[in-house]
Amino acid sequence: MLPEVLSIETPAEDVCLYWFDGPRPYVTSVAAICRSGGCLVLDTYCGSYYMDWVRQDLEQRFQPKYFCVINSHHHWDHIWGNSSFHDCLIYSTPLCKEHIFQQWTEQMEENAAFFRGKAEMFLPNITVDQPLELLPQVFAFPAPSHTADSLALWDEKNHFLFAGDSVESPVVQLCCCNLNQYRKTIAHFEALSPKAVFSGHSINSNPAILRQVSSYLQALAEKRELYIEDETARHTHWDNEKLLFGR
Ligand SMILES: [Zn+2]
Repeated sequence: MLPEVLSIETPAEDVCLYWFDGPRPYVTSVAAICRSGGCLVLDTYCGSYYMDWVRQDLEQRFQPKYFCVINSHHHWDHIWGNSSFHDCLIYSTPLCKEHIFQQWTEQMEENAAFFRGKAEMFLPNITVDQPLELLPQVFAFPAPSHTADSLALWDEKNHFLFAGDSVESPVVQLCCCNLNQYRKTIAHFEALSPKAVFSGHSINSNPAILRQVSSYLQALAEKRELYIEDETARHTHWDNEKLLFGR
């Protein structure tokens, strides 16, 4: 196992979750669903050094006939390992593809310390702007939230939701002024009644996290004063307030 892998979870026989220790102070997930000969990988963390290993591990576990990849959104800690899947279909929203292309150099320069592997840009090669079944009973769908270009994944067989960075505890991060749209996306997630919610940076997969996110977004909408104990989360909250209300 790579020393940077904190844990590997198998919440169902055809689902695997890799937790990476980084980028500090965060932990970050890469998820995989393997079904009917296909192995769908959600997000590619911080470079091919990590994802070459994940690909090999998945090959040993599931012997898939092919791989495909989803980028949940354009942020560097979810896309830099795309080059490990240069021979595969890579899905994202059209806006995500555009952002990766436009921001590749800037994101790489600002966060170079976190990158490991081949520094080659591999863009998504299939864009998704409406719900699309990628494997049997596995649907990708646009989920504007943390970013406008977010994509989520619904595993109807296991009733698992893969929410990317749209769900985080104790607070979520807004990267654009789309509070109303964000609340709609979370309401949609809740309507699916998932048994588990897997996210980009929160290890806890209890679906109760959707209530927490929904309450936090409501508090933001009402401009309520909040006390947040965790220092990193408190700064995220202040950034959200600054973005939405300019204070
Ligand atoms: Zn993000």
